[in-house]
Amino acid sequence: MKIAFIGLGNMGGPMALNLHKAGHAVSAFDLSAAACDALRAQGVAIAASASAAVGGAEVVVSMLPASQHVESLYLGEGGLLAQIAPGTLVIDSSTIAAATSRKVAEAGAARGIAVIDAPVSGGTGGAIGGTLTFMVGGSEADLARARPVLEKMGANIFHAGGPGAGQTAKICNNMLLGILMIGTSEAIALGAANGLDPKVLSEIMRRSSGGNWALEKYNPLPGVMETAPASKGYAGGFGTDLMLKDLGLAQENAMAVKASTPLGGLARSLYAAHSLAGHGALDFSSVIRMVQKG
Ligand code: NAD
Repeated sequence: MKIAFIGLGNMGGPMALNLHKAGHAVSAFDLSAAACDALRAQGVAIAASASAAVGGAEVVVSMLPASQHVESLYLGEGGLLAQIAPGTLVIDSSTIAAATSRKVAEAGAARGIAVIDAPVSGGTGGAIGGTLTFMVGGSEADLARARPVLEKMGANIFHAGGPGAGQTAKICNNMLLGILMIGTSEAIALGAANGLDPKVLSEIMRRSSGGNWALEKYNPLPGVMETAPASKGYAGGFGTDLMLKDLGLAQENAMAVKASTPLGGLARSLYAAHSLAGHGALDFSSVIRMVQKG
């Protein structure tokens, strides 16, 4: 299948590589020359522009930071929806506002282009391993078309509902993840302040009722888990500013439906303060620095 892939960052890079390795003809593009070079070095064809990448593509996948990037890529004059051939399937895996996903899906439908939102969970480890969880918003029929492509990048594919529903599921999950990472950080920091070995404490909690994804796969303290971003200077992974964006989306949504999300609101404020302190580009697990002694 000829697939265009736009956005080759921490997540999009390995996802595009998995499609290439599965034998698809991938034509990839990113605004960052370094991101393009990294994929080119692994044999993926790099297009000169997003417009060039989508020429002749049967499927277009995008993995961009936020709503404004997706909106400017697809909509408006010179936007990709004006260039993609009718009948093409567009899979946007970026985490963005559900309203933006619906807007792009409606504009696509008006041109005979199916657009589904398919944000992911699983982190960079899941992107590299092809074990991501996809949360899809769109019709059953469009998901059925997307499934063979999604299966090459992920292990779990859920149909959350109509257009935008994938995004709503995603922000619920990430609000919980943001809260869990702060709670896990507090507990580890408290134990360490009492002289406990953080590795031993982490293992005790992992196997006890406080066990969670952060303790399983993403310990926030450097040196506890070799593969976690914490042990790599909080480089790569899921940036604090991206988590802040997701918690903002959750709060906007909560206001719209009058939901009470006190811990989600507090978590957003804590990540905002962490970002203001100059840690926005670091992996979000670096939030442990806010509660660590010293
Ligand atoms: P990233 O910042 O590493 O990568 C985004 C890439 O998009 C960058 O390389 C940037 O140059 C490129 N880009 C931006 N605008 C572009 C445009 N118009 N055309 C081409 N390229 C463009 O971000 P990431 O960590 O890969 O995350 C991407 C999305 O996935 C975000 O919405 C994020 O919230 C979500 N997400 C990330 C993780 C994670 O662990 N990193 C996990 C789940 C979901």
